[in-house]
Amino acid sequence: MTRAVLSIGSNLGDRLGHLQSVVDGLGVAVRAVSPVYETDAWGGVEQGPFLNAVVLADDPGLSPAGWLRRCQDLETAAGRVREIHWGPRTLDVDIVACRDGLEQVRSSDPELTLPHPYAHLRAFVLIPWLAVDPAARLWVTGLDRPVTELLAELDARERDGVRPTDLVLSN
Ligand code: ATP
Ligand code: CA
Ligand code: CA
Repeated sequence: MTRAVLSIGSNLGDRLGHLQSVVDGLGVAVRAVSPVYETDAWGGVEQGPFLNAVVLADDPGLSPAGWLRRCQDLETAAGRVREIHWGPRTLDVDIVACRDGLEQVRSSDPELTLPHPYAHLRAFVLIPWLAVDPAARLWVTGLDRPVTELLAELDARERDGVRPTDLVLSN
């Protein structure tokens, strides 16, 4: 059994519809869906705010590379075009972490880095993840850390920038 923690985001077009397309596309693999948060964009490119959520999904035998393909297929289906790096996008699906049985998968391959190299710095990933798994843990620089601790180490402004919404993804 492999379990993927997916961070999903959209700041272009029907933002909620794009997030919902991930839940629908993953179908029976979905184990949990977080609330939806709104977050101002990062990375210096002028653009609208993102809707963000986290989805936990299981599969009997899908490899990490298989999860990445699934994520990229969902992005393509949502009409994602690759323009500016860290620019606006209809849908971004990142693998935050992947577990194979009880083992955390760790990889430094640039095509698929696991855990995601920036996840521990992003309140818009950690806050929705904790909402569906308060006991979540993440490998960061060789240590298996509780996600609650990683979140507490972030700047308060970063945490406060992740705003709860009334929007709901249906599973
Ligand atoms: P960031 O990685 O900072 O969140 P991004 O999501 O904007 O940036 P993309 O343009 O969506 O970056 O993806 C660039 C490449 O990242 C993808 O082609 C993919 O092969 C690679 N990649 C590496 N590790 C991961 C991961 N854990 N999840 C998703 N993509 C990854
Ligand atoms: Ca991303
Ligand atoms: Ca991505």
